[in-house]
Amino acid sequence: MTQYVFAPPATPTVAVAGTDQRFPVRRIFCVGRNYAAHAREMGKDPDREPPFFFMKPADTVVDSGAAIPYPPETKNLHFEMELVVAIGAGGENIAPADALAHVFGYAAGIDLTRRDLQNVAKDLARPWDWSKGFDNSAPCGPIVQAADIGHPSAGRIWLAVNGAIKQDSDIAELIWPVPDIVAFISASMALAPGDLIFTGTPAGVGPVKLGETLAGGIEGVGEITITIV
Ligand code: MN
Repeated sequence: MTQYVFAPPATPTVAVAGTDQRFPVRRIFCVGRNYAAHAREMGKDPDREPPFFFMKPADTVVDSGAAIPYPPETKNLHFEMELVVAIGAGGENIAPADALAHVFGYAAGIDLTRRDLQNVAKDLARPWDWSKGFDNSAPCGPIVQAADIGHPSAGRIWLAVNGAIKQDSDIAELIWPVPDIVAFISASMALAPGDLIFTGTPAGVGPVKLGETLAGGIEGVGEITITIV
């Protein structure tokens, strides 16, 4: 048995809806601009260029219901409501037609972003890690199992700040839908059980201030609520 120099860290996990079990998180992949209207609001042309990706550390996941401290080094913390895909079976070079068989389930998640740091990174052609992968930056609601709900390809996706709707779209608007995203990632590195994929956010991103509550959901998938404290 391996002897560690100190206790190894606990495995980050996400709730699985309707069970007492938890989904162990291995990695968190995130898709960049994947809704045309959001690409336009960020000043980009959404014509189907290949998707691009960034990652967050696995231990940035936080359950729905959490109170998340306003993070340091930013004055412009943004919400990005996203459909999250939970991978249950790994693989390399997965064809789009086979991709959904690798999906364990789906959740509603929020890609918290230090937008001011991201804008500096973009200007200076630096990495996005500091703007995207900070502590508690990947709130994720309970995962609903594909065995129970199937594979949603349409449905309202929305987010409200203190009850005021800010994002309101449909996951049918994804430029690259889930099978394509799974195919792209697995063509570049092997996917593995426990991987989460945040699939990108629709238009309407904006700031969340200290004390405000974010509540969002995806029709047929679930909801998430967090408070910034
Ligand atoms: Mn995002």
